Amino acid sequence: MSSIVTRFAPSPTGFLHIGNLRTALFNYLIARKAGGTFVLRLDDTDPERSTQGYIDAIQQDLEWLGLEWDRMEQQSRRLDRYHDAAAKLRADGRFYECFESPAELDLKRKKQLNMGRPPVYDRAARALSEEEKAKLRAERDGYWRFLLDQNRIAWEDGILGPLSIDAASVSDPVLIRADGQVLYTLASVVDDMDMGITHVVRGSDHVTNTATQIQIIEALGGTPCAFAHHSLLTGPQGEALSKRLGVLSLRDLREQGVTPAALLSLMARLGSSQPVELRRSLDEIADGFDLAQFGSAPTKFDAEDLWPLTRADLQARPYADVADTIAALGVPEALAPQFWDVARENITRLDDLSGWWALCRDGAEPDIAPEDADFVAEALRLLPPPPYGPTTWKDWTDAVKSATGRKGKGLFMPLRKALTGRPHGPDMGALMPLLQRVPALERAQ
Ligand code: GLU
Repeated sequence: MSSIVTRFAPSPTGFLHIGNLRTALFNYLIARKAGGTFVLRLDDTDPERSTQGYIDAIQQDLEWLGLEWDRMEQQSRRLDRYHDAAAKLRADGRFYECFESPAELDLKRKKQLNMGRPPVYDRAARALSEEEKAKLRAERDGYWRFLLDQNRIAWEDGILGPLSIDAASVSDPVLIRADGQVLYTLASVVDDMDMGITHVVRGSDHVTNTATQIQIIEALGGTPCAFAHHSLLTGPQGEALSKRLGVLSLRDLREQGVTPAALLSLMARLGSSQPVELRRSLDEIADGFDLAQFGSAPTKFDAEDLWPLTRADLQARPYADVADTIAALGVPEALAPQFWDVARENITRLDDLSGWWALCRDGAEPDIAPEDADFVAEALRLLPPPPYGPTTWKDWTDAVKSATGRKGKGLFMPLRKALTGRPHGPDMGALMPLLQRVPALERAQ
């Protein structure tokens, strides 16, 4: 096993959505390509919003996609470690206690903005004397900020290239809340260090966090790992996706019939210089995956793009892969492989199979245009009742052609519509042996 270690660190406060998948997949692929380790880390330090239900759902979604993790970690079980780190920062003079309420902070920010200054915390709490602090503590609980070194923090970003952020333009981050809750920034840094994480890929909304985290890691005596920030997804017109992410949860997409290979194929290439095409295994997806080929511009995501990939994925499935689904529809075993061959090219999602089986089993309401009524009636007189064989369609249409003189589309289309009730669908020669009933014929008799 190589020494590459990546992690996917969702907060179990909701279902995974398409944006989370991008982060999960990138981290998974980096580890997989290198023969390294992929850690699933649950950022559950918020006891009010984190639930076991969401933890289970996250695991189920990742399992469904085949994104297996080598190890799982849970922040709520590591609180002692975070408090140790906080104690070190406190002892080293990098932590200071603050008392301003959210309203007071808000007022400060407004004043700064009015004066045309950036709304960076002014470090007023550092000037408090011990007596003043003791007085404030009697009124309310203090919370803790990390004292940034006001220099430029630079790193080579795996996607964005050389990046730097002036720490003076960033507020000292709060790492421990007044109620004692350890916040993500501290927990994440301690975990990344303790777990030997070598590469972190996350959304570009974390760029400022990365700058502060680099300083915290260094203050704790660690070495920052490699960071990469992928662009955020937008809707097809470039609109913010954040409000729609609820409907773009992985479970919804799964429910709608999107397949894992379709999702993974799209998300592993979308926003990169490589074409999106169906790749049916994670090995194929990992092959050629390269972070450096992703751009910094927001990435347009259109859920519609998942359907051609889903179709292609389903069409490529051998019968054995769908045998259970087909058996569950009630298709007799003797007809099932042939049914799959006929139906596979006419489905977008697996659920569409039930419609085709209903057609085979019950037949369809005939669709007969008034001008074709006589022609169809004559043709039906030449059709025996089911069961049919592989040459029935050819034999029948040959006979109808000789009897009526019709040919081409004028011959085939009205017959297809009379038998299937629709103008498109499977090859009729292949469909006929599956037809158990033909209502048009029953009515004509
Ligand atoms: N729980 C954080 C989030 O979901 C993790 C960010 C990170 O990768 O460090 O945004």
